[in-house]
Amino acid sequence: MTAMSASTPVSTPPYGPGVFGPTPRDPTQQLWDPAKQAMDPEERRLLQDRRLRDLVARIRERPVPLFADKLAKAGIQSADDLTGIDDLWRVPLTVKQDLRDSEAEQPPWGTYRFTDPREAVRLGTSTGTTGQPTITVWTRKDLWVEYESGARNWWRMGYRPGMIVTHAHPAYLYGGGVMLQGTYEYLGLLSIWVPPPDTDELAEQAVRFWTRVTPDIPFMGFATGRFLEVAGKLGIPLEDAGLTGLKPPPGFGLGRGGMPLMTAGAECYAYVGGPCGQSPGAHIHEDWAVVQAVDPATGREVADGEWGNLTVTTLDRDNGLLRYDLEEACAILREPCPCGETSMRGLWGGRFKDLLSCQGTRFQLNELEAVLREIDAVRKPSLEYQVVRPDGDDRPLRVRVEVASLDPRERERAGERCAAALAEALGIRAEVEVLDRDAIPRAGYKATRVVDD
Ligand SMILES: [Zn+2]
Repeated sequence: MTAMSASTPVSTPPYGPGVFGPTPRDPTQQLWDPAKQAMDPEERRLLQDRRLRDLVARIRERPVPLFADKLAKAGIQSADDLTGIDDLWRVPLTVKQDLRDSEAEQPPWGTYRFTDPREAVRLGTSTGTTGQPTITVWTRKDLWVEYESGARNWWRMGYRPGMIVTHAHPAYLYGGGVMLQGTYEYLGLLSIWVPPPDTDELAEQAVRFWTRVTPDIPFMGFATGRFLEVAGKLGIPLEDAGLTGLKPPPGFGLGRGGMPLMTAGAECYAYVGGPCGQSPGAHIHEDWAVVQAVDPATGREVADGEWGNLTVTTLDRDNGLLRYDLEEACAILREPCPCGETSMRGLWGGRFKDLLSCQGTRFQLNELEAVLREIDAVRKPSLEYQVVRPDGDDRPLRVRVEVASLDPRERERAGERCAAALAEALGIRAEVEVLDRDAIPRAGYKATRVVDD
């Protein structure tokens, strides 16, 4: 910051392009930021090395004790001890629990902040599904990095200023909603932020509003099924609420069953990449992050295309994370892409805590969900199911599904069909319990699908 002279008090300059958002683009421009997205890979690599050394220098100088300790363990005493990202494997990984422990030892911020939290302008907490929620703070620059990253992703998917979008992310202490809303506004979209459909009444508010102002891009999110369900109860035709033609973003289902790697969590890098659409995976914003698929036993990257621990080092932010292991599976693809972008691509393979194991088989919850979703009798009006967490033994997997039909024979057949499909697709025996509609608790954001017995 430059010192301000008392004799020339600062006044606000006139409004113009770029003052309150990005520099406007020609809508026919192929990439949002070609200078970064189509950058020469060699040049980008040098940029990463420079930004990494800058991160290390700041960790040492400020200091940032949590990461300074990790560097010390790796024998890194100064930025000169690290030539670049090839040396990153030496730095021990940091997991969510480390952040939680750090905040508990030195409440409330812990010892991993790069700035005074009062230099930030936004605060959010994690959902706290696995313990005390951790706190994330963003400075204006940190937000700008996310906004620019989101703009790259949505531009690639064909979103343009002037379009109407909608979302139902939670708000208040959970920072995800305001982040998404802010990013949409930054790009120039008109965003309708409806409440998460925690109750039928809240879902109704959204569905009724969409019949008044219908988004150009229909709602697609964790709670899609809830809106379809409630629209059905109210007798509102799906087309009136713009809820027809729902499809996942481009690139889903391409390549090894993994989804495009689109986020590294709000606490790390919310919009780390976006689906390419032409090739499997998501293009990663490598100028702002080193994304690695790591074998935690050695710290080294696994071979390209293999699943490893999603490990992210953020670059060029005010508040960064070094070697942050999200405890999720990712795979990296580096073959050049015909779309014109030069960054590597990432696949996401799910959270390790969602990995289920029984009868000698390991599978992801979303694999099981995909199987159930193919069965008409349980898919309509929305798929509602729960799995009792198996403990790796040989007993049948216990699955509960709601079935709308009240006909006992149809209900029985639906259960049999689920069991047969799970046996065929995943090779597991399942004991399927058929429940009435509304038997399983509803959630406005991410539903609890795996329950303990
Ligand atoms: Zn591509």
